[in-house]
Amino acid sequence: MSERWTPKSWRQKPIQQAPSFPDAKALADVEATLATFPPLVFAGEARKLKRELAKVAAGEAFLLQGGDCAESFLEHRADNIRDFFRVFLQMAVVLTFAGSSPVVKIGRVAGQFAKPRSSPVEKIGDVELPVYRGDIINGTEFTPEARIPDPRRQLEAYRQSAATLNLLRAFATGGYANIAHVHQWMLGFVKDSPQSHKYQALSDRISEALDFMRACGIDPELHPEMRTTDFYTSHEALLLGFEEAMTRVDSTSGDYYDTSGHMIWIGDRTRQLDHAHVEFFRGVKNPVGLKCGPSLKPEELIRLIDVLNPDNEAGRLTLITRFGQGRVFDNLPGLIQAVKREGRAVIWSCDPMHGNTIKAANGYKTRPFDAIMSEIKDFFAVHEGEGTYAGGIHLEMTGKNVTECTGGARAVSETDLADRYHTHCDPRLNADQAIEVAFLVADLLKK
Ligand code: PEP
Ligand code: MN
Repeated sequence: MSERWTPKSWRQKPIQQAPSFPDAKALADVEATLATFPPLVFAGEARKLKRELAKVAAGEAFLLQGGDCAESFLEHRADNIRDFFRVFLQMAVVLTFAGSSPVVKIGRVAGQFAKPRSSPVEKIGDVELPVYRGDIINGTEFTPEARIPDPRRQLEAYRQSAATLNLLRAFATGGYANIAHVHQWMLGFVKDSPQSHKYQALSDRISEALDFMRACGIDPELHPEMRTTDFYTSHEALLLGFEEAMTRVDSTSGDYYDTSGHMIWIGDRTRQLDHAHVEFFRGVKNPVGLKCGPSLKPEELIRLIDVLNPDNEAGRLTLITRFGQGRVFDNLPGLIQAVKREGRAVIWSCDPMHGNTIKAANGYKTRPFDAIMSEIKDFFAVHEGEGTYAGGIHLEMTGKNVTECTGGARAVSETDLADRYHTHCDPRLNADQAIEVAFLVADLLKK
């Protein structure tokens, strides 16, 4: 790892999960074009996020990260972005108010397009085709043509990311996120659910607190923290040609930043120490995440931290653990103890989704709400036992009223899955279930 890093040094390393593009010239042309496009985010914003994440590492704030498993070209609509953003704001308010903790908000959004897959092929009946790898690479339709990797999709992914980010920035700073609107964020279909009553009661208390401030002569409107919010973007930086093209030298620091998103993470399938993804990540200064699944050994984790965060900078590295219900007590303590022993500053975040995917009797890929909550509770319990800080959660969720995960207060059943199963990849919590998780996590934070 001591060789010189450049944005393209990953090309000299073995790589997992890389699509084979049939037309190398077309791919190179697209990458050259992308390299001329404006950055999507600024280095200064990524640095600000790193400072906020350093507070999470210190136990002074909580990280909420979430969004689609995979964004799709077809569902690129303003109402989808708005509904996602408002349920995210609701969750953040629940965690801030009920959990009494500042919340760092990072969406899996505006760039979450490339998917690692467990098999390179998909078979239906006797027909076998290359697997769908995300809209930035190929199409979902089960036809040989759709499954051919098409580099021009990267230009569309850039365009969609830019448009999504533009709207999110407007929502975050243009008045929509004003805390005075806490009641209006309630989504119509959530209105008569058990969560809505809890949320209504919580927003009433916030309104009262704001009225009290006004009565004391403090105008909340004069405080930018009340009128606007900081919202950041993230995605799995899987398609390294795209990420390389978006990597630029920051003029103020002279450092390289991947300007495709504020935070990027390495998936559980591509975290090999001597492979391409770790090589790419070590050279960019963004805050980065590392997915930690059951096969990760404590000593391997320390070697990865050596490479990904050699200066032991707080806020640089978020470890996102994803073991599955019932496996946290076996897997997490060893990792925590190694990190403690070595004195490494990391953020511990829990992804309770990816270890809890099952196939329902009717064939749908789903995740039981209780399994998700059980992994989160065990995550908090292990950290309490180890004296470390359970710093965040990482969720797959949507603002829409989908039926993809079973359970929750409204008890989505396996037969209900067929009603509104819209995901392009993994099953997501719907708005109701996402708010329910936020309330349950707020209770854990208060303990
Ligand atoms: C994901 O976050 O969508 C994902 C594929 O996760 P993991 O790498 O943890 O399996
Ligand atoms: Mn997923």
